[in-house]
Amino acid sequence: MKFCVLGTKAGGAPLVNKHTSATALMLGGETILFDCSEGTQIQLLRAKISRTHINHLFLSHLHGDHILGVLPLLTTLGGDGRKTPLQIYAPKGLEEFLHLGLKIMDVKLGFELRVHELPSGFAGELATIKGHRVTAQMLEHRIDSFGFRVEELPHRNIDIEKARAFGIAGGALLGRIKREGSVEIANGRTVSFADIAAPPKEARSFVYCGDTRKCRATPTLARHCSVLLHEATFRTDMQDKAAERFHSTAKDAAEVALEAEVERLFITHLSVRYKSGLPLLREARTTFPQTFLAKERVEVEV
Ligand SMILES: [Zn+2]
Ligand SMILES: [Zn+2]
Repeated sequence: MKFCVLGTKAGGAPLVNKHTSATALMLGGETILFDCSEGTQIQLLRAKISRTHINHLFLSHLHGDHILGVLPLLTTLGGDGRKTPLQIYAPKGLEEFLHLGLKIMDVKLGFELRVHELPSGFAGELATIKGHRVTAQMLEHRIDSFGFRVEELPHRNIDIEKARAFGIAGGALLGRIKREGSVEIANGRTVSFADIAAPPKEARSFVYCGDTRKCRATPTLARHCSVLLHEATFRTDMQDKAAERFHSTAKDAAEVALEAEVERLFITHLSVRYKSGLPLLREARTTFPQTFLAKERVEVEV
């Protein structure tokens, strides 16, 4: 599992070298997109991430700096001759926005658009994608805003050395043990999957938080995750502004990471008033040392 942040700035006018929110998560042949702001398509091209592998779009909330790239992406995918359905998960209102936009532009997509609108307050499971479970939880912003967690489902491989010790070498027998749980081998002996399984691999998990102020829901969603990507619009000296706008400070994000006991925190969605993210990074690191600045178009292993 790898992620690539495509935009790190909070809303505002476009800039040449900084973009608004969108993040790609690559799960071996399949790409999930979290938020899709203006400029996402060009950022995908620059990052060499193929849009044809995107089958799922998760939109945190309906503010422009998170969704204004959706209609252009849909029209491009239509132009590509796409046939695979596209699943979109978003707060209520998106379907109307897309329908109206496509109708007014007279665009008829050649693929099925499946929009799943999340009810206000929703918390729960959304989908299973390539052996990963995706869940959502509503956070606290001026409008409904969701965070998403992608977690590898537990799976265990066979330890070939252990299997050999039981005299099992053939692939067919191993296949049967995997399917049936156990098989009888010579001398009436039974070998079960647990006898020859490799130690369980640690499940990796990635949490994407949309815009939110510090709230109770975020540490619940992010509990023990490998990577938490969290907004940090302001520094603590602008705590009042953060509270008024329902955004987080760098310190807020670090406190969430600390409470949730995550492995690594990446901060993003920085206000354009900060020419450099370093002061925000320093602020977060005093609370949570394993904090990093999200960098646009840099692939990171989860
Ligand atoms: Zn935003
Ligand atoms: Zn917002």
